[in-house]
Amino acid sequence: MTELLIKGGTVYTPDGARETDVLITDGVITRVEPSLRANGKVLDARGLYVLPGGVDAHVHSRDPGFPEKEDFASLTEAAAAGGVTVVLDMPNTVPAVDSAGVLEAKSALARSKARVDFGLWGLIRSTSTPEQLEEMGAAGAVGFKAYLAYSFSTSRKQVLYSPGVDDPDLEAPADYGTLARLAPVVARLALPLAIHAEDPTVLAAFRRPLLSYDDLLESRPPEAEAVALSAAAAVARDTGVHLHIAHLSSALGLQAAEDAIRIGTELTLETCPQFLLLSAGDFDRVGSAMKMLPPIRTEADRQALVDGLRRGVISIVSTDHAPHTDEEKSRPFGEAPAGSPGVQTLYLSCLQLAKELGDVWLAPRWVSEAPARLAGLEQSKGAIAPGYDADIALVDPRGTTTIAPHEMRSRQRHGAMEGRQFDFAIKQVFLRGELLDGARPRGRMVRPALVLR
Ligand SMILES: [Zn+2]
Repeated sequence: MTELLIKGGTVYTPDGARETDVLITDGVITRVEPSLRANGKVLDARGLYVLPGGVDAHVHSRDPGFPEKEDFASLTEAAAAGGVTVVLDMPNTVPAVDSAGVLEAKSALARSKARVDFGLWGLIRSTSTPEQLEEMGAAGAVGFKAYLAYSFSTSRKQVLYSPGVDDPDLEAPADYGTLARLAPVVARLALPLAIHAEDPTVLAAFRRPLLSYDDLLESRPPEAEAVALSAAAAVARDTGVHLHIAHLSSALGLQAAEDAIRIGTELTLETCPQFLLLSAGDFDRVGSAMKMLPPIRTEADRQALVDGLRRGVISIVSTDHAPHTDEEKSRPFGEAPAGSPGVQTLYLSCLQLAKELGDVWLAPRWVSEAPARLAGLEQSKGAIAPGYDADIALVDPRGTTTIAPHEMRSRQRHGAMEGRQFDFAIKQVFLRGELLDGARPRGRMVRPALVLR
């Protein structure tokens, strides 16, 4: 039996924050009480925040498929450095995760490299069958993702954005009919149905060459998000499925979501630090590092999303961590691929925002509690309480961090948050009671408690 006692920190528990001790036995939190004694190691956490490790519900490991951009080792090193102890990886790796066999192979690959725990999303294609979803559910998928405007290369087994291309190799994107057909299956598995919410017909009407940031904004209007969100909500409403909106980016999309929630749709909303901390006016300073899809929009959109988060309508902040190589990102604007790393700066971004909103303890709710619940992990992750995995981030509220490329652990060192200063520093991070300090892959696959309805 190994014991670790974290003493005297300000601990964020499900009942709120208080100064107390945390006893960890064999990787599991066993007691959260003041004045505890331990037989093992004691760590003095006076002056530090003791927070549940982050659960990033939306990352792109690029593994397998694009190891030059990222892999499970670099992804999870970045996560560990940022206080994130679970990453939920999207299914558009190559081959895409569209069956239990691919999911199991990806899990084995990830286990051989992952420094933190990971979960895997399954893909919904327009041709997916109920059996394929049931088998992925049984294999441990945390949920399913449908990319509404993205087709599927059947030869390359890859999700692609290729509107207007007439190629028999390309399978049509999952659409609202796909959602209507498969939502009852996903509901029965009691897993979330996540969508990339952009309507392909709206996008088609606004297609244009992308020579400038304004072109990017005009090619991806907020109407695409609002229309896709409303339509998906309409087809999901009576099935009882839990619909999850990935990377909500606009005031119009938020309004559509609130309308759907008001009439009883089971809907969770996720937004990202880049939409909460940056707006289009930052492009002159940040450049292509902030080219991503959906795009970082206007200051009014940013304020609406912050307000949605403050009011609790948006419950989850995750990153859409999507690195490329620095060389790819330094190409001319039209050719630079869309995406930025984010997992390493997730917790810091949210602590800063929460502090500015007047309640720093909102951050662990957005980054840990709510995403753990989304993925069906609420009995083991996302809280500092007896019985939970000892996934813990120690944060110094008097430290500061300036985001510098040489400290980034992702392959892409220059991200959208470069140069930003935060009023916090991540001091130590524990995964199941062990300090994350080296390159040893100790990550395990997390799987939701399967509740068949
Ligand atoms: Zn994504």
